[in-house]
Amino acid sequence: MNRFVEKLGIDDVTFIAIEECSELQKELTKALRGKLRREAFIEEMADVTIAMSWIKDAFDITDEELQKKLGEKLAKAEIKFIEGNEK
Ligand SMILES: [Mg+2]
Repeated sequence: MNRFVEKLGIDDVTFIAIEECSELQKELTKALRGKLRREAFIEEMADVTIAMSWIKDAFDITDEELQKKLGEKLAKAEIKFIEGNEK
């Protein structure tokens, strides 16, 4: 386990992840309203990416598990998109 994650503990890492997702959500909402703050947007994307790596570590999720799920989800999303455009 990452030393930082180990020191903070699973609850604090989870709180940080929730907060970072919320901050990205705020920037996404601003972008939808035509008020994109590009630097802040990229910063929150980076924060969420970091937080997800800590969550992965804290909850002992392996690269293989995540890659398998990403592959499944991407394939499903592509099928839905293709089917949606055929109607
Ligand atoms: Mg942030």
